Amino acid sequence: MKTINTIKEIREIVKEWKSKGFSVGFVPTMGYLHEGHKSLIEKASLENDKVIVSIFVNPTQFGPNEDFEKYPRDLEKDEALCNSAGADLIFAPEVIEMYPEGANTLVDVEGLTEGLCGEKRPGHFRGVCIVVSKLFNIVAPHRAYFGEKDAQQLAVIKRMVKDLNFDIDVKGCPIIREEDGLAKSSRNTYLSAEERIAARVLSRSLRKGKEALSQGERDSDNLKDIILQELHSEPLAKIDYVEIVDSSTLKSIKSIDKPILTAIAVFIGKTRLIDNFTFEP
Ligand code: AMP
Repeated sequence: MKTINTIKEIREIVKEWKSKGFSVGFVPTMGYLHEGHKSLIEKASLENDKVIVSIFVNPTQFGPNEDFEKYPRDLEKDEALCNSAGADLIFAPEVIEMYPEGANTLVDVEGLTEGLCGEKRPGHFRGVCIVVSKLFNIVAPHRAYFGEKDAQQLAVIKRMVKDLNFDIDVKGCPIIREEDGLAKSSRNTYLSAEERIAARVLSRSLRKGKEALSQGERDSDNLKDIILQELHSEPLAKIDYVEIVDSSTLKSIKSIDKPILTAIAVFIGKTRLIDNFTFEP
């Protein structure tokens, strides 16, 4: 397995693979890889002849007061994980390779980006869509793999692929969790020992919500209250949002009579964590 830094090289390799009739799977990441990323790479490797993982901490998707500078990076460890998960190639470009001077094109998906993380992190999805569309054009894979952990991102990318006619099959992959329920995330490494325990409240609150749904609760305000009550029980948790939305439009709903996405974002200390589940009545 090789790590490559230039667009030119990656294009040459993919061209050669395609000329031999190989299918290409692609897993875009920001690195500091964990079991969640690994599950995406393994799925890609099962479904494709060749797998490319990109590792790029994308500056355009971070807000001015967010953690771009301190985002964890460890390319050597990432290479070992990619290798063991069955990847064939890592694409790890420098910022200047992806954003040369003068770059001035934006990619905006409207509607789906208005609420949830889109509302709380202005410009975030624009940055995601710019980098993912560039990566799609550079790698030109047959299939691309994204985690359901970032449910809004997955919905936005699927919309963008449809709207811009990318000939790429976008696949969602289930959330991988720690043993105590916390969704795996590169940002979990920011948590102190005390915060790490407090962070269990995210999955615990969602579990309470799921229990209520399985007992027949169909009012989204009541469901929200149940989740909020659990989150409020943790003093280190500061709620960014708790939303119950239609899983296809991502608009708030009152009565739970169609598939929903329940999504939360919570600060544990300074670390912002997200989690979600979907439910079909
Ligand atoms: P990131 O490196 O955080 O940008 O994530 C890269 C990809 O891995 C995205 O498609 C994420 O949704 C996915 N991912 C991150 N954490 C998890 C997880 N715990 N389970 C499944 N997929 C994940």
